[in-house]
Formats: sequence, structure tokens, C-alpha cells
Amino acid sequence: MSVYETFKKSFWGPTIAWKRLFTKPVTIQVPRVYREASERYRGFHVNDWELCSGCSTCSKVCPTDAIKMVPVDIEVESGKKAQRPAIDYGRCSFCAMCVDICTTGSLNMTREYIHISDDANTFFFLPDETGIHHQEVPLGYQRDEASELLDLERVEMEELPADERVDSFIEYVKGYSREQAIAEASRCVDCELCVDVCPANMDIPRYIESVFKNDTSEGVEWIYKTNPLPGVCGRVCTHKCETACSIGNRGEPVAIRWLKRYIMDQESVEDIIKHSKENISKKGKGKIAIIGAGPSGLSASYYLSLMGYKVTIFEAKELPGGVMRYGIPRYRLPDEALDKDIDVIKALGVEIKCNTTVGKDITLTELKNKYDAVFLGTGFMLGRSTKVPGTDHEDVLMALPLLEKIRDYLRDPENSEKPPVPDSLIVIGGGNVAMDVARSIARLQRMEGKKVNVKVTSLESMEELPADLEEIVEGREEGIQFFPSRGPKEVIIENEKIKGLKTIACTRVFDDDGRFSPEFDESDVMTIDGEMIVEAIGQAPDYSYLPNELREKLEFVRGRLMVNEKGQTSIPWLFAGGDIVNGPDIIHGVADGHKAAVGIDEFLTREEG
Ligand code: SF4
Ligand code: SF4
Repeated sequence: MSVYETFKKSFWGPTIAWKRLFTKPVTIQVPRVYREASERYRGFHVNDWELCSGCSTCSKVCPTDAIKMVPVDIEVESGKKAQRPAIDYGRCSFCAMCVDICTTGSLNMTREYIHISDDANTFFFLPDETGIHHQEVPLGYQRDEASELLDLERVEMEELPADERVDSFIEYVKGYSREQAIAEASRCVDCELCVDVCPANMDIPRYIESVFKNDTSEGVEWIYKTNPLPGVCGRVCTHKCETACSIGNRGEPVAIRWLKRYIMDQESVEDIIKHSKENISKKGKGKIAIIGAGPSGLSASYYLSLMGYKVTIFEAKELPGGVMRYGIPRYRLPDEALDKDIDVIKALGVEIKCNTTVGKDITLTELKNKYDAVFLGTGFMLGRSTKVPGTDHEDVLMALPLLEKIRDYLRDPENSEKPPVPDSLIVIGGGNVAMDVARSIARLQRMEGKKVNVKVTSLESMEELPADLEEIVEGREEGIQFFPSRGPKEVIIENEKIKGLKTIACTRVFDDDGRFSPEFDESDVMTIDGEMIVEAIGQAPDYSYLPNELREKLEFVRGRLMVNEKGQTSIPWLFAGGDIVNGPDIIHGVADGHKAAVGIDEFLTREEG
């Protein structure tokens, strides 16, 4: 630029600026003038508290650590936490990752962006539906498909196809490979909602993390803190934890049960025993008797042994395991998986006296005299009958004895009685035991070259069936037919042979208060054809081993024994757990056994002191 041009610019330049004094300003005078934000503006947050589960995933993902979970005074259902995210706007960069990852979709951003205050505390804000100024504001940024941060689809578990699996009793769920397990573990957001829902409060996120780190021996350590039957639970647990999984809010819950099975299948029994022995303390001195080698008895024996007690289990059957050995069919729970768990327990020094019935071979009073405390884990092993006319026919069977016969036969066909394999079977009941009977007989029919002809009838409608959904779906794939909302009326017998079951429509199973109170329509009659009937309507306890003088001191409510929070009955040296206390599944038994072990230790330590 020449000297003249430079002079000209600097001479006239200021006058141009002066000119602007007389034109309309471009600057918008916020907050006096409000400027609309764009539709996807990332303004202050709103959170729908009804939807929010308090999972804290938003807080964990926040790159500026701007979100803190704050306890709130609200009632929450099981699987949710009474805490909500609060946001520090001194830190928030409005990146919206919290919105993208929110497991429920409750957290969103508004188009509101102005907040002026000389109170710094107001910039740390607990958003609810009304936003920072508690007024209605238009929503701004919300997650869309492209910004999804969660992996909503579960890694599929390989299973034998229905037509193949129904030909045998081999375990049809194949288990995850290492790659599959790591991919599934990577879906967990470590929110811990599952921990509260698990009856044993297993530290699920920690053992899932161990899978992700490819360190299954660390996983074993986490698992055995609260569950000494993980090979079993990794296969047949009712996995209520998965119903609480935050990923399940918008996708498929993490396959917690299968990941537990993966961990246990990787580790040898020797390594698990080595790990367990490292945790034995010599603290407890004394002898404990346990009646029943089912889930609660085995669990109690493991934790009592770790505390240093000498434990003896008295088991009436030939082999330990209770319902796990004699109830659940081996296509769901092979003997090898159960034996592996039991071998670990036995390796700690637990003695299991099988073929020993308390009340017959030894009395409870004798046990009381020889041992410092006694734990009852005798389960619900007696069948219940509908008692409709004809159920006293020899071809009307109870579910559990039949399942036991099938398992014995498959284990040792040479020395066991062959179970009956009818051409057609009717199963009365809608729970998992009914499904176990139906699917077992379907397999036996196929193994004998017959067509699957098994019908399940229940009071409940299809939607109300208490059996696990996967049992129903898989049973149906295997050819089981369902006759829901029917009540048994009479067994039809001709020439001493069963021809079928007369049923009437069941119009209601439970009353408005959720109590069992079925109602029927007698005019709606249907006959279901079949030559054998199995009743699987529930089990009952057998307390015949309890002498009268003790029974009188105990409290029972609807067949269940009352205990305190440590599993102690009203007789101080007598503890109990499992089905006779709580039910309804293996993991509750595991939790009860652990709780009672702690209770017994406290009781004996107090006695000593
Ligand atoms: S991620 Fe969503 S559901 Fe979880 S605490 Fe945050 S706002 Fe609530
Ligand atoms: S398994 Fe599901 S509920 Fe449990 S910590 Fe992981 S994401 Fe949360």
C-alpha cells in the first residue's frame, strides 16, 4: 500500500465507525431481548423422575465430571434407586453425552439457555420435568438413532435347534465363546441396579468386568463371595437381576446368567477349590448339622466351613443336590455342572451323609445333642394333588417323583426303574416344574420313536403362566401344546384306562387383592385327550422329622417356617432357610443359606462369650 493510501485510510477510518452510531444495533440485548434457540439446542436439562431409574450412567459418562447423583426422598420400586442426577453448570460443557447414554431416555435438554443469579449454588441444579426455572420450556436436544451410545442387542446364545434338542437330554444351551462373552460383558454400564434385585446381592458388575478384562479367575473370586452354586445358577437361575438391568429399559438386558456360566465353565474345579481354601478362617469352633443337601443347605455349609466350622449334611436321597439333582432335568442342568459346585464344597471338609433320613435314621434331638447348631433346608418335596375325581388312578402321577425317576434312569439305566413313556400326556400346572415334566416326557417320547404328544393345561391364561417365558417358548418349539385358562374337573376313565381330562373354563385365578381365588364357568366344558396325567400344581413341605415338642415351639405361616433376619427360628439353636422359609427358587436358597451361616456364627460366638 502507498503512503497516500495509508494516509487516506487512517484519516477516513474513524468517520466510518462514527457513522455506525446512527444505525440500528446488530447485537441482541440478552436477557432484555430473548432469542429463540434452534430445535436441537443443547440448553439446560430436564429429567422425567418417573422414568429415571437413578442408574447413574449419565454421571459416569460425563467427561467433565459435572453430574453428581443426589439422594432424593421418593418411593422407588425394586430395581431403581432413590437418587437423581444433579448438574454443575460451572463444569458442564453441554456435550449431551448424558442424554445420549441415558438408559431410560428420561434425561433431555431444553432450548432454555439463560440463567442469571448472584447465588452460585443455583448453578448446581437437580433437574426434574420442569427445568431450571420451573416453567414449561420447549425440548431441545434429544438422542436419536445416530447418537445412541448403548449397545442394545444381546450377543445371541447358541442353542441346539428344537427338532434336534428334543431327541435327547443333552444340554442344549451351548455357552458363550470368549469373544462372545467379552462382547456381551462390554454392554454393561456398571449401574449396579441388578445387585439389589439379586436375592444373594451378588456383585454382578464386578464379575462382568472380570469377563471384559478376560480374567475369569478374578470373576470366580467375586462370585464365590455370595454364591457357592454358580455353575448351577449360571444355567438355571431365574435371573430376576436381568429384569432390573438398565440396558433392558430400551434394549435387551445384559445376559448376566450366561456370563456367570461362562466364568465358571472356564475355571477348573482345582482352581476354584484352591481359591476357596485361601478364604478359610479358623475363627469358628464347633460342629453344625445341616438337614438337606439342597441349595440352602449346601450354601450354608460352604460359608460355615469358610468360618472354620465342622459341617455335616444329612441327606435322605442317594446323591446331594435336592431339587437341582432330582427336579430340574439334565438338558437344563447336567450332573457335571452340579457335581463341580458340590466338589468345591466337599473339598472344604463338608461331610455329606447321603441315604440318611432325619427322623428315621437319626432324630433331630440326637442331632441337637451332638452338634452346636442345626440348619433345616429340607425344601418342598411333597407333591400336591388337585383331588378332582379320578386322580387316585395309578396313571395320575406327581411331578417330582416322576422327574426323579427320569433323572435316575438317565444316570444309570441298568440299575434304575424305567420311567413311564405314554403315547399322550396331560400335565396340570403352569409353572417351571410343569414345563420340566412336559419337556422331559416329550424327549422320552421322541427317544422311543413316538411323536411328541404332551398337553399342558393351567388355570392361568398364557400371559399369566408362572413358568419362565423361555421355558414356554422353547416348550412350544418342541411341540408342547397349551390349554390355558382351564380348571380340571374330572379324570375320564374308560375300562380302567385314562382317556382324558374334563376341564371347565377358568375365568379368574386371583382376586383383586392378588389372592389365589379361582372362578370357573361350569357351562364351558372341554375334554383334553391323554392316557397319563401328571399333577404339577406345586409342592409342599414334609415336617415329619420335627418331634412334637419342638414343632409346638416353632411358628408356621401357610406351611412356611418363621425365622428372623438371620435365619434363626424361635428355638435358638435351630436355623432354617430355602423353600421351607422363603422359596421360590435356587438363588433364594443360596441367599438364605449364607444369611443363616452368618447367623449361626453370631449365635455361637455370643454363646461362647
Ligand atoms: S442415565 Fe438417565 S436413567 Fe440413569 S440416572 Fe441418568 S437420567 Fe436417570
Ligand atoms: S448388568 Fe445391567 S443392571 Fe447390572 S450393572 Fe450391568 S448394566 Fe447395570
